[in-house]
Amino acid sequence: MELLMQGKRGVVMGVANDHSIAWGIAKKLAAHGAELAFTYQGDAIGRRVKPLAAQVGSDFIMPCDVEDSASIDAVFAELKERWGTIDFLVHAIGFSDRNELRGLYANTSKENFIRTMVISCYSFTEVTRKAVELMPNGGSVLTLTYAGSVRVMPNYNVMGVAKAGLEASVRYLANDFGPRGIRVNAISAGPVRTLAGAGIADARHIFSYQQRNSPLRRSITIDDVGGSALYLLSELAAGVTGEIHYVDAGYNIVSMPVLEELKA
Ligand code: NAD
Repeated sequence: MELLMQGKRGVVMGVANDHSIAWGIAKKLAAHGAELAFTYQGDAIGRRVKPLAAQVGSDFIMPCDVEDSASIDAVFAELKERWGTIDFLVHAIGFSDRNELRGLYANTSKENFIRTMVISCYSFTEVTRKAVELMPNGGSVLTLTYAGSVRVMPNYNVMGVAKAGLEASVRYLANDFGPRGIRVNAISAGPVRTLAGAGIADARHIFSYQQRNSPLRRSITIDDVGGSALYLLSELAAGVTGEIHYVDAGYNIVSMPVLEELKA
């Protein structure tokens, strides 16, 4: 098998446990020869990330809370010291107060709006700006988004607004850094049962509805996302930047539920 990431080094931000989308991506990148560093939010998550990192041959894990710029700066200083340069970065980070991921979007508080934007949207711009300093030979940057950015999904509320901003950031960053050979893309994943996913009210209903009504009639796995991430982060996608790539079993193309009697 050709190893698509042999000789490449990069950082994966957002593994919380072995259900995390970032973990599905990390496993696939490591299987293709990538050398990985990980960031984690807080000591409790750090204790879970350490053995996962070890599973993919990495002892390079660093704390990072993206609300704190000093903590982001420390991560990139350490990357510079240990590796000098990197080839890729994965940003799989999102947060909003779960009390506001239910009911009317209109009731979003100003405080949670700002916090959601900082963590789920602005942090991608901040870490990309730092990452490109370590990419003198070009590179590839990837974030995770959800279709609640372009269509109304029940209870996704302010996260949808943050993801819309995140997707616009992907395009602006792709344009900023394209001349330096740095590609910036996003994967728009279908619903996956993760810690973050469980914060959305009625997540189970949304999950099973998309499972029943997507063209592939199934939900997606973190391994599905890993495969598409491998493509976007490797030279296979050398001509792709500024793209929002759907990995959702095709759900985004469907406008109406398929009638039971017409299902095969
Ligand atoms: P997850 O809970 O496993 O991962 C979310 C990560 O965000 C965690 O590792 C958490 O520690 C991190 N995080 C939150 N606030 C942070 C902060 N202040 N500083 C640093 N890290 C912070 O859940 P996931 O579903 O794997 O989420 C990863 C990404 O995928 C998120 O951007 C999410 O919005 C996106 N996504 C998820 C789904 C889904 O259905 N689960 C679908 C599409 C997109």
